[in-house]
Amino acid sequence: MTRDFDIVVIGGGHAGIEASAAAARMGCVTALLTLRADAIGRMSCNPAIGGVGKGQIVREVDAMGGLMGRAADATAIQFRMLNRSKGRAVWGPRCQSDRHAYEAFVQAELARQPNLTILEGEATAILTDAAGRACGVALADGHTLSARAVVVTTGTFLGGLLHRGPTTWPGGRAGEPAAEGLSDSLRRLGIELGRLKTGTCPRLAAETIDYSQCERQDGDAEPVPFSLTTGQTDRPQVPCWITRTTPAVHRAIRDNLHRAPLYTGQISSVGPRYCPSIETKIERFADKDSHQLFLEPEGLDTNWVYVNGLSTSLPEVVQRAMLAGIPGLERAEGLQWGYAIEYDFVPPTQLHSTLEVKRVPGLYLAGQINGTTGYEEAAGLGLLAAVNAACRLRGEGPVVLGREEAYLGVMVDDLVTKGVQEPYRMFTSRAEHRLHLRADNAEFRLSDQADRLGLLGPEQRQRWADLRAHTQAARAQLDRLRVEGKPAAAWLVSPATDLADLLARAADSPARAALAQWLTQDAQAVEVAVTDLRYSGYVEKQRRQARQLGDLDHRAIPPGLDYDTVPHLRAEAKQRLAAIAPRTLGQALRVSGITPADVTVLAIHLHARRAPA
Ligand code: FAD
Repeated sequence: MTRDFDIVVIGGGHAGIEASAAAARMGCVTALLTLRADAIGRMSCNPAIGGVGKGQIVREVDAMGGLMGRAADATAIQFRMLNRSKGRAVWGPRCQSDRHAYEAFVQAELARQPNLTILEGEATAILTDAAGRACGVALADGHTLSARAVVVTTGTFLGGLLHRGPTTWPGGRAGEPAAEGLSDSLRRLGIELGRLKTGTCPRLAAETIDYSQCERQDGDAEPVPFSLTTGQTDRPQVPCWITRTTPAVHRAIRDNLHRAPLYTGQISSVGPRYCPSIETKIERFADKDSHQLFLEPEGLDTNWVYVNGLSTSLPEVVQRAMLAGIPGLERAEGLQWGYAIEYDFVPPTQLHSTLEVKRVPGLYLAGQINGTTGYEEAAGLGLLAAVNAACRLRGEGPVVLGREEAYLGVMVDDLVTKGVQEPYRMFTSRAEHRLHLRADNAEFRLSDQADRLGLLGPEQRQRWADLRAHTQAARAQLDRLRVEGKPAAAWLVSPATDLADLLARAADSPARAALAQWLTQDAQAVEVAVTDLRYSGYVEKQRRQARQLGDLDHRAIPPGLDYDTVPHLRAEAKQRLAAIAPRTLGQALRVSGITPADVTVLAIHLHARRAPA
């Protein structure tokens, strides 16, 4: 039997959720096909959303009408703004989530999304038409789904192989089967696949932990939610706890390294350098005799506790020995032991900036399959892949965000231009325009565009209009405010100057009264106004640089350009540029191995092509 859809999204992880919801919101008749409907929205690893760089992505997904921010706000059990001691541009909103509540929230949201059908089943092949375009999906049960575009978001499930000590078993993550057929189908379409690895830590029973030996870590007294539509949050917050590894733990690990799949050669693929296993940390930082561990509760009505920092694939018996040497965990019982997983991914230089596979029009990839790691990165890619698939079906141009516009733009550009050598996660250092790409101003960068695309609901559109108006009003009052004879701007350039302190020192004035009122009515509006003012000098400088670079980013390279016909271009440059097929001269400059001289040669050639004979 065949069922017809505009867009089929394969996968119900964080990429698939955003992809299917965005496609449906844009009016496409959409199916979300997943192995288990009750696992939609599952957090494979830590029960937390956001963080430095990642939190900015959640804000951007929210500003474009995505679900992640709302789901995080509705199910958070602890909010913390990370990096508060640094400049506001790199503050990273993060929350600890109630894992089961998060799944339930997302599943309920998708269930009531018009245009969206949830289907359970395993995709085993991408179907293509005579022209080589993706036109549907074959399922393991013999059914087919026809579609005008397909978005694949299969996470760690393709060819997934789990490792704990010498034991290996196939799986997509703990307790769920791997997907076996789809990798071969992708290969048959001429798509190259690679292998990556990641890992996770043991989960412990809360009642067996001695918290009196741990340091308590509370959330923020005034939580800042992710979503513009959340307003204030009064969710109950619970503490996390901090403990540390000890020399005895390090000894237990070192004595057993010969049993670690990472060191026996059993795992050969590359894992995330910035999220190493405890065995890797002990090897890499041999001089350290202790590493911090965070004990993170997985929800309000569960006794599962996640041990952040103790990712490992050592055998269970060694994991038990490790716990025995950690203060507070000496008698802790494991509910699920740590493991590593290897999986197939698609090196993302095979994708256009729209996340469409170059070789297979109509086929889009998003999430971990693109070589990224993290829920937030997956969500952002899912949203953008579906937006582009929907735009194509509606006969509209592509949506490619600039590096100066969004972390999402930075991520896509990095992936399709440079590829990945290890699982890619977002850091603020990846963004050259990070003073502008702040968590607080995501709506100002993205919401108008999202609204034009049809991604915003009426409530969010109204909240965005209010925020914009309130920010303008707060800005006008800031321009008028004078403190001790000097304009507020002159004080606020110093990051140490706090607005509340400034207001206290200002003489009574209409501007002061108005600002105090805006602070209570819409704190985000005042925050954006103040931060814009603080950074205005730097941002203007970055804008000038962006305009210079942007020049190159706006100089298009004709699609299908034959680089062999470009005179004086180095052979290596021809090869690299042909493989990536950059859209602009700016992107060409970011292709690894391409020099400014290569781009100059290319620019001269393009100019000559355009010039009349
Ligand atoms: P997933 O969340 O993996 O979802 C994939 C979806 O695709 C599932 O719904 C599955 O049912 C479905 N699916 C797969 N194949 C098929 C098919 N053939 N047919 C139908 N449906 C299919 N991230 C971090 O940031 N830090 C970490 O420390 C970290 N550790 C991790 C440890 C482990 C053990 C695992 C498994 C993941 C870890 N991650 C970590 C990664 C994080 O879980 C992923 O980045 C994120 O979940 C990716 O989202 P996704 O939507 O791409 O895929």
